[in-house]
Amino acid sequence: MSYWIITVGTELVTGLTLDTNSQHISERLGKEGFFCSRQVSVPDDVAAIAEVLNEALASCDGTIITGGLGPTSDDVTREGVAEGLGLKLIFKDDLKAYLDRWYSRFESFQDIVYRQAYLPEGTVEIPPTTGSAAGFCLDAKGKVVIVLPGPPGEMSAMLESAMPFIRARWAGGESYFIRTLKTTAKSESWLETTLRDIMVREDVDVGILAKPGEISVQLRVRSDGKEAVDRIMNEVEKEIRSRLGRLVFALDDETLAEVVGRLLCSQQMTLAVAESCTGGLISKLLTDVPGSSAYVKLGVVSYSDDAKINLLRVSPHVVKGYGAVSEESALEMASGIRRISSADIGVSVTGIAGPGGQRARKPVGLVYVGLEAEDRRDAWEYNLSGPRWVVRARASQVALDAVRNYLLDRAGAL
Ligand code: ATP
Ligand code: MG
Repeated sequence: MSYWIITVGTELVTGLTLDTNSQHISERLGKEGFFCSRQVSVPDDVAAIAEVLNEALASCDGTIITGGLGPTSDDVTREGVAEGLGLKLIFKDDLKAYLDRWYSRFESFQDIVYRQAYLPEGTVEIPPTTGSAAGFCLDAKGKVVIVLPGPPGEMSAMLESAMPFIRARWAGGESYFIRTLKTTAKSESWLETTLRDIMVREDVDVGILAKPGEISVQLRVRSDGKEAVDRIMNEVEKEIRSRLGRLVFALDDETLAEVVGRLLCSQQMTLAVAESCTGGLISKLLTDVPGSSAYVKLGVVSYSDDAKINLLRVSPHVVKGYGAVSEESALEMASGIRRISSADIGVSVTGIAGPGGQRARKPVGLVYVGLEAEDRRDAWEYNLSGPRWVVRARASQVALDAVRNYLLDRAGAL
């Protein structure tokens, strides 16, 4: 089963808004075994929408379109779909009634909102969830077309409403499944060499994908049956894990911060973070996870020497003698944050994110991570490459990974 995603919006093709809808849809439908063979963005333009829809229907089994269902005259997806498929737009009384209710909370509204009560003839409507616009599904030339609003929250809720329709229409046929093993391996080439014989297997397509601080091995299998897919995936995953061990930290969409959170919870441990060059990114990643208040005690951005000395009680002799970017400072920052928060684990990061700030024997990308716990006091040096945001992202990952490794050691020792 292969399908296209078409996102509509002049803001997408001009670079004002990043198309996150395609990412969400292909990830969500990928979990069901559906293969997205193309993603296209077009401006808010009737002819462009009509043309790309026909192109899609000529080349795949179905299409998901998002965006351009709003009330204003620049939202023309309904018109584009109707034109492309030669359908009339029909006024739907039930949608008008919904719009009357929805807009009644505003003091006044213009009649243009009733544009949203029109749908192409022969469509199955997907009722609005949080917004004003309805989505719709239709059969065109024997293929499925699903049209959803653009705001990501509305779109994802309505995609769920459309799932039974999608499953029913796209059931059977070849499935395409993906499993992603996320690793903290140091380099793609090392990973490729370590997995060389697996990479050339015929029954599974193996890809190595890198982003800052995270290199993934993605397994992609096409098959007629889920059981056959699971058997191959499980076998290959087991083999990869046996070679990489702890380097594999998560599967699919789980993040390193979630893994750390899970380990902290299961060991009933708490964590506090003292950050310098990461500027709060580690605290952000940790607290992005719902329920993180159970184990995150404190996060401090001790950017200046003064803050390190006065707040975290790093010794002025250490800061002056070894420098704020040093193993000694990282260790004292970890001890300081642990002491003032009473957390079980204190972790710290200090480094040079760049592009300036380089000193003799202290290049951009030099980062120290410190960790203190009841039974451990350690620091690690890293030379991380890349522009500022990449150094910060990598530094955050290595610090979280230090906590993960400590907790894994501790779980082994318990
Ligand atoms: P409405 O106008 O009722 O909000 P709509 O269906 O017309 O809904 P759009 O006008 O296309 O939606 O987009 C509304 C907002 O949703 C845009 O400002 C944009 O921020 C966001 N958005 C639209 N498409 C996408 C997309 N593909 N990825 C991420 N955000 C998007
Ligand atoms: Mg729009």
